[in-house]
Amino acid sequence: MKEGWYIEMFKRIAVIGVGFMGGSFALACKEAFNCQVFGVDINPKAIEKAKEQKVIEEGSTHMEGLKEFDPDLVVIATPVKSFEGIGKALVRVIDKSCVVSDLGSVKGRLVYLMEDILGSRFVGGHPIAGTEKAGVENATKDLFKGKRFILTPTKNTDSYAEERIKSLWKSLGSLVEEMDPYLHDFIFGAVSHLPHAVAFALIDTIERLSEEIDLFKYPGGGFKDFTRIAASDPIMWRDIFLENKEEVLKAIGTFEESLKRLKDLIEKEKIKELQEYLSKASQKRRALEEV
Ligand code: NAD
Repeated sequence: MKEGWYIEMFKRIAVIGVGFMGGSFALACKEAFNCQVFGVDINPKAIEKAKEQKVIEEGSTHMEGLKEFDPDLVVIATPVKSFEGIGKALVRVIDKSCVVSDLGSVKGRLVYLMEDILGSRFVGGHPIAGTEKAGVENATKDLFKGKRFILTPTKNTDSYAEERIKSLWKSLGSLVEEMDPYLHDFIFGAVSHLPHAVAFALIDTIERLSEEIDLFKYPGGGFKDFTRIAASDPIMWRDIFLENKEEVLKAIGTFEESLKRLKDLIEKEKIKELQEYLSKASQKRRALEEV
């Protein structure tokens, strides 16, 4: 950042997609600094609920509704496959000085696509915070406190827009970290998207094993812990898997190899190797508690 720059805080924020993440972001901003929030959502019930819960002051089911509000920041918080259409609609209704950012779980190609549509004022971001719950009714103002926020600027990103977004997230209590958009997709394809894929597949497996007897009547603690994230929103995850297809498929391929190796060790009763395989995994997982 150029020395002597004064970082101007945003005053009129528009959130596209007033669901769990968009709603939490709106509440967090209102608590952290003085701003007005306008919501745009294709679902009129989401707008209604968000107004009732005082998450937004005003809202609309159409992007045109934004013109009069004249935001200085727009944050996109919808499923990632809708970003392109939203970007194209946005350029027609917002001022050139308006900064645009997002909360999407996939970056990579999408960041460059949004930059093509919106120009250098687009600053990609991904808060590493969330739950399996969707909808504005689950929104919470403290969601981002103490959590990582991954910022994915490119060489084209306007540095002042980037500094403003960085300082906004710091004011929400997040720990801001910069990362290349494609590196982001490799990392989160492995540590977030793969576990979700496996959890969805595990539920499918138990369902297929339930032909004679309903196995879901006997959920152990381990099964419940492991599959909590399979209750996540299907549209959001459909979009994440498709948008990060390459990394997700590579991660699933590596997972298949790990599972095949485990299967082989059990089948051939390779006691020593099996114990080693399990010990290594167990130690890695226990060390995670300290991170
Ligand atoms: P959500 O389902 O709670 O909210 C999404 C909202 O977007 C809904 O109200 C829906 O009606 C609206 N919407 C859908 N398409 C739209 C469109 N074209 N125009 C306007 N509104 C539209 O989902 P969420 O959990 O808030 O996720 C939103 C984004 O945040 C996604 O991109 C997701 O990848 C990302 N994200 C989610 C989590 C999480 O844990 N839930 C964590 C990090 C990032």
